[in-house]
Amino acid sequence: MRPIMACHCSQCRKQSGFYFAATAADDVNLTINETSLKWYKASPEAKRGFCGECGSALFWKHQKDSFTSVLAGSIDGSSGLEISEHIFVKDKPDWYEITDGKPIKNDGKNTVCL
Ligand SMILES: [Zn+2]
Repeated sequence: MRPIMACHCSQCRKQSGFYFAATAADDVNLTINETSLKWYKASPEAKRGFCGECGSALFWKHQKDSFTSVLAGSIDGSSGLEISEHIFVKDKPDWYEITDGKPIKNDGKNTVCL
């Protein structure tokens, strides 16, 4: 699993109510047994996976990537993972600050979050 990236883009904020924190797994290593999984097409390039029963956000997937982002909050128990960087910080609202000292990507050049 990749270290956790924290995305502060407006789409992630509006879906989660805060920022998205996600690790990722290569698709060849990811097995999804959840039969109630639903996908929402969030943009022409990406979709978001959520539980069709409780609504919990679970995944983010770009159509060109060979990995799937996994919401860190969905992992049971200790993961051993930590946040490695913050992305889309220019879209962050003014009601919280980033104080963990991790790298901040403000350039807005990324077109894809997580
Ligand atoms: Zn995002």
